[in-house]
Amino acid sequence: MVEKSATEIRFCDEYEDLFDQCLHALTQWTRLRAFGDRQDSAGMPAKSEAQRAERGYVAAFSALRRHSRGCILCEERLRVHANSGLSSAASRAS
Ligand SMILES: [Zn+2]
Repeated sequence: MVEKSATEIRFCDEYEDLFDQCLHALTQWTRLRAFGDRQDSAGMPAKSEAQRAERGYVAAFSALRRHSRGCILCEERLRVHANSGLSSAASRAS
């Protein structure tokens, strides 16, 4: 049996909230983009809506990144997470 608590990483409430918004914006953008491609020939204004959704996603993502850099708790969690598996690959890439 694998211990769940060892692999589960918890961030602060604000991070969870921002991550939720980011995921929601990404889902919306993906949906609108697919819809816009299909409706393009009909001249629907779906493209601008997709662009707005894309901007929303970019804004949500940068807010998430900004938070993880400024928040002591999340920064620590990300460092621990990176050291546990990605550090060797990251140091080789840089
Ligand atoms: Zn945080």
